[in-house]
Amino acid sequence: MRSLISLLASVLLVLGAASPDALAQSPSKQKQGRPPLGMEKITDDLFVIIGNGGNVGVLVTDEGVVLVDDKFEEDYDGIIARVKSVTNQPVKYVITTHHHSDHSGGNTRFIEVAEIISHKNARANITGGKQPGAPANLKPARITFTDETSVFLGGKEVRARYFGRGHTNGDVIVYFPAQRVIHTGDLMAGLTPLIDYAGGGSLVEWIKTVDAAMAALDFDRVIPGHGTVTNRAGLQTYRDNVVKLRDDVAAQIRQGKSQEEIRAALATQFPTVYGNPNSMQNRWSLPGFLTELR
Ligand SMILES: [Zn+2]
Repeated sequence: MRSLISLLASVLLVLGAASPDALAQSPSKQKQGRPPLGMEKITDDLFVIIGNGGNVGVLVTDEGVVLVDDKFEEDYDGIIARVKSVTNQPVKYVITTHHHSDHSGGNTRFIEVAEIISHKNARANITGGKQPGAPANLKPARITFTDETSVFLGGKEVRARYFGRGHTNGDVIVYFPAQRVIHTGDLMAGLTPLIDYAGGGSLVEWIKTVDAAMAALDFDRVIPGHGTVTNRAGLQTYRDNVVKLRDDVAAQIRQGKSQEEIRAALATQFPTVYGNPNSMQNRWSLPGFLTELR
């Protein structure tokens, strides 16, 4: 029994590490025993802070730092420490990819020192309490936009653009034109995306949104919301797998398969995602697939 329990614990750890929006765990539980945040260099002036919560993009300029997302509130000190390891410049702006608290939780602290910018729907999702279990003190952006906005700092540009619904109804893709890099937020996260229907997400629209972004933006590398930095081909493969998932689920619905039968079929393709009946995808996405693709 003991080995079974430790095996289960290992599986849960792996699932927690691999899944976007590991929100079922409380931040305090996540904090116990986890390693300090890591940082990887993408270009001389662009970095990604990894570990606990969503990936944070860090653009360093001579006039200050622009962050993309800010993890959980508890990660504030860790993010600041990582930024200080590469520059003495202060964080001046945080662009939020979407409302989930593993990407916007740090707003609670960063709003005291920086300007926070998000899509207007991401702000509305925070003020409207659209995420179950989100911290009550979560702070929305003070500046919002609808289609596109840019921050110009130290002779560099960071551009945030809205291409439509996907993971939620407020996801933006952040583009670093000179670096030829995009940060997708949770439009790309883990092995297959979580679709948050309660937060306005859509599997059908996800494909259109990602296709529009890939057609519009000239980039080489991709910072996903969760997981390792990849490239355009990696995003293309991820997108193609989502199209296959949509077609497979739609075919099974036409065949009259039940939600549990569809879950079991998805589990053979994505065992760590759909194999766990309590995963975020099984709770938030699958019931929505059955409604949307019917
Ligand atoms: Zn998310």
